[in-house]
Amino acid sequence: MKYQNGQIRHILDLSKDEKRKFAQSFDTIMSDCDGVVWHFTGPIPNVDKALQLLKQKGKKLAFISNNGMRTMEEYKQKFLKLGIPSHELEIVHPALTTVRYLKAINMQDAVYCIATEVFKDYLRNEGYVVLDGPKEQFSDDRAADSVRVFTEYFEETESPKVGAVMMDLDCNVSLAHLMRAKCYLQRNPNCLLLAGATDYIVPLGGDGRDVMGPGYFLEILERATGREALVLGKPGQALSQFILEQFNVTQPKRTLFIGDMLMQDMGFGSRCGFQKLLLLSGGTSLEMLMAHNKPEELPDFYADSFADFIQLYKDIAE
Ligand SMILES: [Mg+2]
Repeated sequence: MKYQNGQIRHILDLSKDEKRKFAQSFDTIMSDCDGVVWHFTGPIPNVDKALQLLKQKGKKLAFISNNGMRTMEEYKQKFLKLGIPSHELEIVHPALTTVRYLKAINMQDAVYCIATEVFKDYLRNEGYVVLDGPKEQFSDDRAADSVRVFTEYFEETESPKVGAVMMDLDCNVSLAHLMRAKCYLQRNPNCLLLAGATDYIVPLGGDGRDVMGPGYFLEILERATGREALVLGKPGQALSQFILEQFNVTQPKRTLFIGDMLMQDMGFGSRCGFQKLLLLSGGTSLEMLMAHNKPEELPDFYADSFADFIQLYKDIAE
């Protein structure tokens, strides 16, 4: 079978010299979490050993996730199980980046959020006024009520003023949420449209099962309002500026970006100027990698999982 991207090599197919060169080519690893460090449905074998080995080899580790639906405590517990104590944990995800952005622009107004409660709590805990909902369902026989509710959305109310609409993954997202967001954006041209995760696909266990991501819903809102969201998750430009600044990256090529998604992870790695490694342990199969036709979303190398680093270092040592 002739692969379109057949020049992209598996790290374990490199010659011993090439493996050594690769291992020495980066000082920092920035890695995605879901699909590479663990699955939503359970652990990925030997990731803990691989991460410990990389630490021993002097690699700095940081984690850049698109998942702002875990509390900080949950993240800490998960990483502790992988041998990364909380004082060593460097993690960035859309809820944290959103807080950082709102602080940077000195947001004083309320933020209407289409996101999980955990995500919204990150904002509430920093003192932001968060609006959400509606939470009630509209049934067909209460049609008059939904007309009333939709009509109310169009009416200008100044209390509290909404300065931003924030959209992330929300399993309860509905037409009513999108309508409400649209009204805020149309009423006030200065109301910002922000997005966290923009994934179209959220893989569950690396076995082809996946969930529709928020990307589709954001697209509806963008099309309905003619606005383009500022994306604070991967592969957003705004996030890449934050990351380069936060980690004081002066030589982007000395950072290896690791992830399982072509658009989110490899696209983001390209945007930052990083080296890129795709792991096939999550949402992308070898066939998908080989058939992908956007050069900026392709990795420099690929591997089956984090565990391949264990073999890589063994091969170099022999
Ligand atoms: Mg992932």
